[in-house]
Amino acid sequence: MIDESVSWIEEMTTCRRCGLADLRTQVVVGRGNQGARVMFTGEAPGKEEDRTGMGFQGSSGKIFDDVLSYLGLSRHQIWLNNVVRCRPTDTGRKNRAPHPEEIAACRPWMLEDIKWVKPEIIVTLGRMAFLSLTGDTHFATYRGQLYITEEPGIPEIFPLAHPAYLIYRRSLMPQYRQDLDRLSQFLAAKKVPNHPVIPKRFI
Ligand code: SF4
Repeated sequence: MIDESVSWIEEMTTCRRCGLADLRTQVVVGRGNQGARVMFTGEAPGKEEDRTGMGFQGSSGKIFDDVLSYLGLSRHQIWLNNVVRCRPTDTGRKNRAPHPEEIAACRPWMLEDIKWVKPEIIVTLGRMAFLSLTGDTHFATYRGQLYITEEPGIPEIFPLAHPAYLIYRRSLMPQYRQDLDRLSQFLAAKKVPNHPVIPKRFI
């Protein structure tokens, strides 16, 4: 649930710190459980997220929900946000990747989320989410492993490939499952409560 009484959340929903404010329908704020021990961070809202105000909708959203089931988690247990909170698009028709200056402009909102929720681990979804939190360009090297950043206030990070990859690249599934198994083991060691259900697409 979003606590609209928290002053910075109200400020974020009207933010115009970067040009993405011009074509957005709404700011897609982080959502989930404020006491979440695990935060999931994606890249940016797409068209459907911009319309509904909710993170990870449509086809990627279905895969993301399967990822959570595989890990034994639900959206009510976690915190879900993006490195930029407004949909990157130049025309309103196509999505595009966020520009570095847009990521930098939105970073204070990410840091507010982390301070507020205090997750023990952040699972980054995709190269851009990992890069923006760590400044490290070696996503392929660290994918599926625990990553410790020296930046104060940022907890341990676990980089995963973006769930949307699995829509077009079924061949990545075995590797993705291995990464999820490592993350599961890590969450189990931290005693994060979970009830895994293996979705069909992961069998
Ligand atoms: S993307 Fe972030 S910084 Fe840019 S207008 Fe939206 S909330 Fe503000």
